[in-house]
Amino acid sequence: MTRMLIIGPPGSGKGTQAERISERLGVVAISTGDIFRANVKGETPLGVEAKKYMDAGDFVPDSVTNKMVRDRLSEDDVEAGFLLDGYPRTTAQVDYLDEILAGADQKLDVVLQLTADDEELVTRLLGRAKETGRSDDNEGVIRHRLDLYHEQTEPVVAKYAERGILTQVDGIGGIDEVTERVMEAIKSAQAA
Ligand code: AMP
Repeated sequence: MTRMLIIGPPGSGKGTQAERISERLGVVAISTGDIFRANVKGETPLGVEAKKYMDAGDFVPDSVTNKMVRDRLSEDDVEAGFLLDGYPRTTAQVDYLDEILAGADQKLDVVLQLTADDEELVTRLLGRAKETGRSDDNEGVIRHRLDLYHEQTEPVVAKYAERGILTQVDGIGGIDEVTERVMEAIKSAQAA
């Protein structure tokens, strides 16, 4: 049973690593970005609302995001553990998640942060923009998303560090190499 978060700047490969961790640990990976993108694609009311913010590289408001996460965490497949990817991104979201977990008498085991240098990330994301045509992957929006990460999400990381459940992994390198580092880090964190 593992309940964990993966946090990292845009382009750090957290989605890719989240899928691999999920397979190896047998827990469901829940990506708020993926849920938003699926809703945008399906043109649901949630998607229409979220798209305005996503295209600008802004955070979708907590009123929308928090409820979505609460609903998702109440589904049955989460009972065996989960890996949240892309949430919480603000300290207010940390408080909200604390409440959800406390209400279910649960707690997080590990918070994994993938680290990478901004310039490397910009290069990677511009490459991804060419391949996938994601509408939030142009340079202005990319830099804005990185700024938001530093301003809003690094304080989230600091909170979990204070609680003693943070483990950091260098996200630069080949995908397999980073997965090995990540799995080692999770193992050590769980043994601690
Ligand atoms: P991601 O795929 O994790 O980079 O997320 C893509 C976009 O979805 C972000 O740039 C935000 O606009 C939105 N998003 C994802 N997760 C959150 C969150 N926890 N809070 C607010 N907005 C989010």
